[in-house]
Amino acid sequence: MRKKYVAGNWKMNLTLAEARALIEGIRAKMPQNPPVDIGVFPPFPLLFPMAKALEGSPIIFGAQNCYFEPKGAFTGEVSPQQIKDTGARAVIIGHSERRHIFKEDNALLKKKVVAALAAGLDVIYCVGELLEERDAGRMEAVLDAQLTEVLGGEISLDRIVIAYEPVWAIGTGRTATPQQAQEAHAFIRQRIAKLYNSQSAETLRIQYGGSVKADNARELMSQPDVDGVLVGGASLKADDFVGIINGAIAAK
Ligand code: PEP
Repeated sequence: MRKKYVAGNWKMNLTLAEARALIEGIRAKMPQNPPVDIGVFPPFPLLFPMAKALEGSPIIFGAQNCYFEPKGAFTGEVSPQQIKDTGARAVIIGHSERRHIFKEDNALLKKKVVAALAAGLDVIYCVGELLEERDAGRMEAVLDAQLTEVLGGEISLDRIVIAYEPVWAIGTGRTATPQQAQEAHAFIRQRIAKLYNSQSAETLRIQYGGSVKADNARELMSQPDVDGVLVGGASLKADDFVGIINGAIAAK
């Protein structure tokens, strides 16, 4: 049985005071010992203060991006080890905003995944198609390339979670239907079985991301291959995020 995993991607939002208030609110409102994994992914400058704000909490935290080099003349970049030093457990790699705004390609993302795992971070690796790719019937080809060119069957999946985030559903209010999410997740699991083996595919957790809210979380996570959610906008309000956590707990 795969444990559900609810992760909040704060993107470039929240001041220090707002982030502290959000964590306080989530901690006060969420169930005591939730039977699901929960993570928050603040911007870099908030990692150290969030380590303190989350002391004694089951909520883990991580970064939204990293560079692949361990150190050196890479102005503006942050290494996986520097992220690890904050107490962070994980990093998101390949978010669609990194792929499309910052033009990160599969070759670069592979290096980042390898470096993050080597530094001891868990990885949420994001995949997903653009609307025009879906409309052109290319969803499976795009997902296939994102899985094959980055994970390739050789990178261990033990500390990787895949997030399926159709780009047309991110921040648009247009959620994939539970059936669309299930179909894509089943395809990803089947591709992983081919690239690795059926055991790896069976244990791999696949999150859905794209306009997840408290009122659609439960149904999405009740799909057999949807093992959690990666949440943007709705992770910025304690009531909304806790509603999604409760949806994960209630999902069948
Ligand atoms: C995301 O940023 O990963 C995301 C899914 O955003 P939103 O929930 O706002 O669509």
